[in-house]
Amino acid sequence: MNFIFIFILGLCFGSFINVLIYRVPIGLSILTSSQCVYCKKKILIFDNIPVLSFLLLKGRARCCGKKIKIQYPIVEFIFALSFIYSFYFSNDIFNFIFLSIFFFILTAIFFIDWQHLIIPHVFSWSLIAIGLIYNFIFNQEILDYLFGAILGALLVLITNGIYFVTKKKQGMGMGDVFLLSGIGGCLGLVICFISFFWASILATFYIIFSGQLSNLQAKIAFGSFLCLAAASLMIINNFYSLSNFFY
Ligand SMILES: [Zn+2]
Repeated sequence: MNFIFIFILGLCFGSFINVLIYRVPIGLSILTSSQCVYCKKKILIFDNIPVLSFLLLKGRARCCGKKIKIQYPIVEFIFALSFIYSFYFSNDIFNFIFLSIFFFILTAIFFIDWQHLIIPHVFSWSLIAIGLIYNFIFNQEILDYLFGAILGALLVLITNGIYFVTKKKQGMGMGDVFLLSGIGGCLGLVICFISFFWASILATFYIIFSGQLSNLQAKIAFGSFLCLAAASLMIINNFYSLSNFFY
């Protein structure tokens, strides 16, 4: 019972992430009711049930018959899974809230950066704030997280500097600076450092296997890889405290 309730709640939050992914990058209000992205007709409440409506409508909008992006149920499902994870592997209610918001923000950034190659500051700044506030109140090693947030920003800025000097063009954007800073604020100094390299490895694999190696001018959503890296390391770190290997 508990499990199903948590899963459904996760799907509903995931549905809200879809709203943010669609509206924030193009500057639409998130408070108005849902409307079809194609014909702008209002979406009925029973056509707006996470995952289920997509399946019942066979992936097509009721109003105009256009294809609904598969991304919608995927986002809902992914967040529901991370919500369940947060519920069952958190130490207390505050840890549960912290983990949920962490995965919530990363899911939103992952898809926004992937589609638009931007990371709205509202998400990355929230990540920095939630990480530092949570660890300041509940963690004795606050300096570890404070330095993590500073190192995160510096890592991207220094890499950008080197890239600019050698290639004479800009590498990552300020969005990545704040995102890695937020990852450092949430996960601490050591894991922030590992996240950066893990994301670079993932991005390199993606470039090789997606056949983009011949087209190195193409921009890639490095922020999305940072999100993948940070989310996976948060989960691994919960089982094997990674920092312990280094201290
Ligand atoms: Zn429509």
